[in-house]
Amino acid sequence: MFRKILIANRGEIACRIIRTCQRLGVRTVAVYSDADADAMHVDCADEALRIGGAAVSDSYLRGDVIIEAALKTGAQAIHPGYGFLSENPQFVDQVEAAGLRFIGPSATSIRAMGLKDAAKVLMSDAGVPVVPGYHGDNQDPEFLQAQAARIGYPVLIKARAGGGGKGMRKVDSAPDFQAALEGAVREAEASFGDGACLIEKFIDTPRHIEIQVFGDDHGNVVHLFERDCSLQRRHQKVIEEAPAPGMPAAMRTAMGEAAVKACHAINYSGAGTIEFIVDASSELRPDGFWFMEMNTRLQVEHPVTEAITGQDLVEWQLRVASGETLPVTQDQLTINGWAFEARVYAEDVESGFLPATGTLSALSFPDGVRVDTGVRQGDSITPYYDPMIAKLIVHSDTREQALQHLHRALQGTHTAGSVTNLRFLSALCVNDAFAAGQVDTGLIERDLAALTASAAPPEEYVAIAALGALGLSSPADWHQGFSLWAPLRNTVLLQDEKANIPFDVSVVVKGKNRYHIDIDGNEYALEVHENSFTIDNRHTITARVITGQTQVHIFGEETYTFNTPDLLLSHGSDSDSSDTITAPMPGQIKVVAVASGQSVKVGETLLVLEAMKMEHTLTASRNGIIAEVTVEQDQQVESGAILITFEIQDA
Ligand code: ADP
Ligand code: ADP
Ligand code: MG
Repeated sequence: MFRKILIANRGEIACRIIRTCQRLGVRTVAVYSDADADAMHVDCADEALRIGGAAVSDSYLRGDVIIEAALKTGAQAIHPGYGFLSENPQFVDQVEAAGLRFIGPSATSIRAMGLKDAAKVLMSDAGVPVVPGYHGDNQDPEFLQAQAARIGYPVLIKARAGGGGKGMRKVDSAPDFQAALEGAVREAEASFGDGACLIEKFIDTPRHIEIQVFGDDHGNVVHLFERDCSLQRRHQKVIEEAPAPGMPAAMRTAMGEAAVKACHAINYSGAGTIEFIVDASSELRPDGFWFMEMNTRLQVEHPVTEAITGQDLVEWQLRVASGETLPVTQDQLTINGWAFEARVYAEDVESGFLPATGTLSALSFPDGVRVDTGVRQGDSITPYYDPMIAKLIVHSDTREQALQHLHRALQGTHTAGSVTNLRFLSALCVNDAFAAGQVDTGLIERDLAALTASAAPPEEYVAIAALGALGLSSPADWHQGFSLWAPLRNTVLLQDEKANIPFDVSVVVKGKNRYHIDIDGNEYALEVHENSFTIDNRHTITARVITGQTQVHIFGEETYTFNTPDLLLSHGSDSDSSDTITAPMPGQIKVVAVASGQSVKVGETLLVLEAMKMEHTLTASRNGIIAEVTVEQDQQVESGAILITFEIQDA
């Protein structure tokens, strides 16, 4: 076994690899970009080296700098994780030329599978079923169109160098073919510098089922069964599971054998995944699957396989790369129970799944679930890398239990500081077709409206949020409410973050921890306890309330986030003595009332921001001198943008 390895990656996968290394007593070297200087993977490793600027081309793709870092720190091998340099055969050559071991397959194996067309020819020659199509060199558009006609519409045009769903176009009939081809070629050239395409039969009602494989340097190959990754959005995986629902034993055997055959054909060593497309238009059948591509690396969703087999695939990678034989034989591997993985992302589902950024002012996970993450509370999701927050992996005896477990785990995951896809993932857990195991790659798109619907929050949650906004959501806050307000009444404007619905709420203090709340004319009596609220003496809602500068988060059975447009500025919050004034929400600067060098008193108007069709006055949170005003009148600003800085105060 290695004494020390370098991990040429970041985020959750770097942290996950480090965990196994620690258990095995292998020392770890992390590398980081300027944007990741304080990242979790840097903290977890034994040593860390800066490799360059935030852009991936300046850091995580700099093979030369990474190899130099490995040599300098005395690492014996490099683990590439997934993405970045993991499937780059030139990098493998360079690692080996430097006298280091690449923890992954040989450059020759990676090359054999690197281009989808050549891989398909190779697989078909090896007797592995391949989707009918044209995988040759002739790229003449008329010729390709003739091939599409021969194969029969609908067809799929795919970039041979493709990955991550890019350079792919489905074509339903001949008149659309040329425009689709042009689009695929353009996208492929831009993304991969290679415009060559193949044409494939589009499999109707497709399911994505892949086989985890593993080989060693001694000619052994095993498979670790299947994963179903059919829940996809734009060809990107959303929730994965193992085993695959409805998989007949004969088909599992046939797919496993085909995958092992594929590995022998290229003398494969290390972890790999053979992706198959499966015809799910009727029952699954042993001759209804076709090779799509091989990923010659550890896969994002490998934890579901670890859960059902009880194996640690990163440990296997380390053992195999250090020359050992595979730790088990095929007949020692069995499937135990059912596992799901959900990918939690910082993304704005309502506005078309746009990637989001932000500082995670709250981040907590429930017990009893495996969490693979690369961020901690207080860390930021930056625009430079994949906006994944965490993978939640659950494992239970049956599929039904595992799915319930996943749903609870998602509901128990509390985040603040960025929008996330948590609600969308929760909605998927209770989708009828998914619950019944009737999955196919079109499920999400078909049910998208229902899966992304943002229902109005229940008014009881609005009432709790109003208390949160006024700093009254814990029993200990009562005295504050009592003494601060002469008439014991206050009003607050809340806006549901998802549904964008405004609520005008009035709160009257009725006595110790008891409040009367009026939401647009509907009245509620609330009693506040530690992490729970009794409504109208009738029922109790358990919920955690986090009040930030501009938002209130209610973590109950569901999570609700409310913007607090009018209060952000007038009310005290954790950043009272802060040296910066930041934009509480996206908007336009209407008035700049101060200039740098000016001395201001607490409460004095600094800026007026127009957002959500209202003007918001940003006032000084403390006495001090303005160091810099970083915005101008009429400027558009992002939420969280720094607008004004104060001169630092001596403590
Ligand atoms: P997988 O099943 O492993 O997701 P894909 O081929 O569908 O396989 O996608 C892998 C994708 O992961 C890459 O195309 C890339 O966009 C993304 N990726 C690459 N590096 C990272 C990383 N460090 N963290 C998260 N995602 C990454
Ligand atoms: P990538 O390298 O981008 O991951 P893949 O070839 O693995 O490309 O295909 C990505 C996804 O596209 C699959 O998971 C599946 O949902 C869909 N897909 C690929 N080939 C077909 C096909 N022949 N018919 C129907 N859907 C397909
Ligand atoms: Mg793929």
